[in-house]
Amino acid sequence: MILSESTDLLDGLNALDPEALLQWAVATHGARAALLTSFQNTGCVMVDMAKRAAPGLRVATVDTLRLHPETYALMERIEQRYGIRIERFKPEPECLERMIAHHGEFLFFDSQEKQELCCHIRKVEPNERALDTVDVWITGLRRDQSDARKYAPKASRVDHKGRSIVKLAPLIDWSEDQVRAYLAENDAPYNPLYDQGYASIGCVICSTPIKPWEHKRAGRWRWFNHMGDDHKKECGIHTQGSGI
Ligand code: SF4
Repeated sequence: MILSESTDLLDGLNALDPEALLQWAVATHGARAALLTSFQNTGCVMVDMAKRAAPGLRVATVDTLRLHPETYALMERIEQRYGIRIERFKPEPECLERMIAHHGEFLFFDSQEKQELCCHIRKVEPNERALDTVDVWITGLRRDQSDARKYAPKASRVDHKGRSIVKLAPLIDWSEDQVRAYLAENDAPYNPLYDQGYASIGCVICSTPIKPWEHKRAGRWRWFNHMGDDHKKECGIHTQGSGI
């Protein structure tokens, strides 16, 4: 389905189902559209959907250089299974070296400020470079992932360095059960850490398994849980200019 810019683009996009959104992104923006994913289950669903609905969709990730071995192995499996090449955006070596020299490798334990600094250098800045290459940013955000994401739209416009880009979250209203059912029905590759109790997977140490009664992002930066500020448990990628 092709929507013209003269119609109310966002209203039209918000009404589309996930496959139609992926299709629209590739059909209208080609290589200027990309799925930026950290290979949570939602990202794996969309990689699988794209093989039918949007072949040729760019798939990119931020490699913080601190991901779980299971995540690196998953990326290789995905590349082999779908015959695609995942673009990897990594931290700037000089910034990384400077940060570690000043604050140590494990600075994220010290304070929320230093955790955010680490996330900025390892995640946000490489993500910004990835966004430089797109006009349509496809993400795996879901409303049930955290309080901060409860009202996130399926389609929105966000500012990136003074440029308006379309941000799509095709699975925004899917539940965890729907996501898992899709992966099982399609025998799609996913991160085995989900089977070990992880609900949200990022860097080693900073993401841990959760208990059944805990919030989905409780396993992220677990040592900050006593602060009771779950809404602050974001790395910064989805809080800059996104309105959430
Ligand atoms: S999740 Fe942890 S290791 Fe990864 S970038 Fe953020 S603070 Fe650094």
